[in-house]
Amino acid sequence: VIDIDDTHDVTHASWVTSANAEETDFPLQNLPLGVFRTPNSAPEIGVAIGDQILSLHRALQLGVLTLPASLAQACRELTLNSLLSRGRPAAAMVRRKVFELLTSDALKQDITVQALVSTKDAEMLLPVTIGDFTDFYTSINHARRGAQLSRPNLPPLYPNFQNLPVAYHGRSSSVTPSGTPCRRPLGQMAPSNASEEAPFRATAKLDFELEVGFYVGPGNLLGEPVSIDSAEDHIFGLCLVNDWSARDIQRWESQPLGPFQSKSFMTSVSPWIVTLEALAPFRHKAVEREENAPPLSRRLSSERHSERGAVDIALKVRVQSEAMRTRGESAAVITETNFAQQYWSIFQMLTHHTSNGCNLRSGDLLASGTVSGAQQQLAGCLFEMTMDGRNSFELPGGEELTYLRDGDEVQLVGRCERKGFRSIGFGVCSGVVQPAIEWL
Ligand code: CA
Repeated sequence: VIDIDDTHDVTHASWVTSANAEETDFPLQNLPLGVFRTPNSAPEIGVAIGDQILSLHRALQLGVLTLPASLAQACRELTLNSLLSRGRPAAAMVRRKVFELLTSDALKQDITVQALVSTKDAEMLLPVTIGDFTDFYTSINHARRGAQLSRPNLPPLYPNFQNLPVAYHGRSSSVTPSGTPCRRPLGQMAPSNASEEAPFRATAKLDFELEVGFYVGPGNLLGEPVSIDSAEDHIFGLCLVNDWSARDIQRWESQPLGPFQSKSFMTSVSPWIVTLEALAPFRHKAVEREENAPPLSRRLSSERHSERGAVDIALKVRVQSEAMRTRGESAAVITETNFAQQYWSIFQMLTHHTSNGCNLRSGDLLASGTVSGAQQQLAGCLFEMTMDGRNSFELPGGEELTYLRDGDEVQLVGRCERKGFRSIGFGVCSGVVQPAIEWL
């Protein structure tokens, strides 16, 4: 059970002064983990603190951070996989030790500063070698609006939606860290009539999907499901995910087996993993089921889950066009929503995933699917916001946006706020759209 403790106490401050600024995503109370590199050096595991990164490798080397030998070894590796596999107690111990190091003036010796790297001097890498990537479809608002657009004459939800969290298997090889440009993909789309050759060209309907992802901590054995109340022991932490999508390719290829090339070309993740420990103050009652919803399966419900199943994360999507960038204008918020509304929780997703005996492995990435608000203008993708390109909306400066254009940068951000606690954030998950390659 993850509880609120003194590492969440709002009165604590860090000697890294940028961590005490109100607007930082990375105060002392957050301490997310990631992997970074400085020029000409090997990847290192780090903890974000204000505008700095504490290198665990360097802190261990300098002797200012002490951990049991096997845990110290895990913190010196080139990815977080080994640390993830060690589970809750290891995550909590690293959090506690780093918290003490960054709080205590006694430990702020000149030597400690040598373990800090400025964020602007670091390149963020994928934090984990991702074995499998599973993408769910768990927003009821997204499901309803998607159905209205794709099959307006059928009921607004598939009958399974309220009975299980629907998912498909994604592609892990093309999961990339924030900042990687997104090359507009080529693909086949529907011919205008059945006797014509189906066109193969660059997508004209490139979209983002605003999602929350989570990394599996310790895995489960083949054949052994994880109960809903044990699910949090298998989730290390959360990140933001942009599941870039090509709607014209998707519409044509998805019958009857679901998305493939319309999604597999690239998925972006924010580089910092915000641990479940850091998120303890922002857990929230699970979403209440609608009155006419079918009964919830016993395997996906518990008293504890009802009390703490949701995570309250305010999410935003910002877009900056090439013209805005040229004019020096910052990105504009085009939609905002909250992850606490998601119909199925991350714990239900994980339990459902294992309920047939499927083994999850440490470092697997699972994502929520598009997080959409109840109103159309607060949806988590352009497909819904523009009704598949029928509408457009205006960016500051007057440009019309329907689907993404070359040069558009998409930025996802997420922040947790609760009265009496320090706000924490996820950092940004961004990518600029690049023109398609010339091929054939
Ligand atoms: Ca998705």
